[in-house]
Amino acid sequence: MSAAYERLVARLKRAHILGTVAGLLGWDEQVNLPPDSADQRAEQSALLAELHHAAASDPEIGRLLAEVEKEVCHLLSDKLSEDVDEKVVWREAKKDYERVVKLPAEFVAEKARLSSAAYHGWAAAKGKSDFGAFAPFLEKHLEMAKQEAAYLGWGDRAYDYAIDKHDPGMTAAKITELFAELKAGLVPLVRAIAASPVRARTDIFKGFPVEAQREFLREVTERLGFNYRRGRIDVSLHPFCEGSGADIRMTTRFDADNPLDSLFSSIHETGHGLYEQGLPLAAQGTPLGQNAGMGVHESQSRLWENQVSRSRAFWAFFEPRFREKFPAQLAAVSSEELYLAVNEVAPTLIRVDSDEVHYNLHIILRFEIERRLFSGELAVADLPAAWNALSQELLGLTPTSDKVGVLQDVHWSGGAFGYFPSYCLGNMMAAQLWFAVRAKYPELDTDFEKGDFARLLGWLRAEIHEQGRRYEMGELVRRVTGEELTPKYLLRYLQERYAPLYLK
Ligand code: ZN
Repeated sequence: MSAAYERLVARLKRAHILGTVAGLLGWDEQVNLPPDSADQRAEQSALLAELHHAAASDPEIGRLLAEVEKEVCHLLSDKLSEDVDEKVVWREAKKDYERVVKLPAEFVAEKARLSSAAYHGWAAAKGKSDFGAFAPFLEKHLEMAKQEAAYLGWGDRAYDYAIDKHDPGMTAAKITELFAELKAGLVPLVRAIAASPVRARTDIFKGFPVEAQREFLREVTERLGFNYRRGRIDVSLHPFCEGSGADIRMTTRFDADNPLDSLFSSIHETGHGLYEQGLPLAAQGTPLGQNAGMGVHESQSRLWENQVSRSRAFWAFFEPRFREKFPAQLAAVSSEELYLAVNEVAPTLIRVDSDEVHYNLHIILRFEIERRLFSGELAVADLPAAWNALSQELLGLTPTSDKVGVLQDVHWSGGAFGYFPSYCLGNMMAAQLWFAVRAKYPELDTDFEKGDFARLLGWLRAEIHEQGRRYEMGELVRRVTGEELTPKYLLRYLQERYAPLYLK
């Protein structure tokens, strides 16, 4: 390719590398930071953020983008060459660059200050269960989100812009349609399970030594395909996955009385980690070496966490190993009791504690609230009442306080609107991929029973991971499954997994 293109890629990589250093500092802050070192780390992180912003908004990138645009312009009008590598890199890099340079530095700094203050405001308000104390921060965030959309040229489509930031190409109208269909199928299933006399035994998980849990989850995540020579797992308060390319940092947490929490959160983060490890290393630092958005990312974590690791075939292989690690604890627990406990369904007010059947209803609730906030149908002051009404309608539960209702999630304190829908879109995509791959490889269950996940991973690598940001979520799903993104596979999957357990 041309010298201009080479220089553009070099500039993009430079910004990317600074981003990875910042990410590593962030990981270290949550995993290793001594208690009195926070101020020093804040200074380091602030300087890195400044350097990263300067590298990403480097005017030379703008100049090179214009030069490359002239060179590839013969490709621009040609639909057939839409996914030529250079064109993808130019198209996506231009989008990123504009997002960085169109926001005034003062605006960016103000949003960072607001997010920091709002985080502490949220934590304090949650502690007192007092939404009123958090409301002014939320008002300000909402105002700034609309301002940001205006800077980027989205006019009055501020919520679409917020969604597009997480899932390029997705819109509120499209999500409204998908969620309506999902809700119509999901609510009857949830009600039927709630009326079922079948209850999972949750009292069986007591006194599972942490060291044995650690060994077991290491074996599981290694078998699923995580490469520990290019990543690691540590402990943090909230599990997460950070990094890209040749260095992926995952975290989990341990509770002797809740071994499934560390196991399934590790598998979830492993799904994210496998995606990042599968992105083409040679394209690292360019959009072709980057993930295709939050929804696609979540489809990878959810597929491994739910479709794969809650299946009978998975447990056919891992149950004997689990029992080997915890012989006394599981002596009086039957296989069927264990499998039911792995697939426990019970409503809860708290999203992060939710089972996968109820989970999407928690997301539909948040999407509905955000949609109304942005359209002006709902005022910030009326949020708790709207939240509680939706909670009752969707989950059959009314929060007893703001703490377990409207104040439970951290996202809005950072102004992260349009983020929640990604979780549910990812669940839909995961189920759709699941049906597609099983149609192609009917022998997957037999693989899993042998502890072999290579065929599934190989397929995900080729179809999803190696594509980087070549396609937006909608296009990716269409290409891989031959259909538009639809909730029907998620509904079918939930029905097939949970009806035999609860609706016998
Ligand atoms: Zn996730």
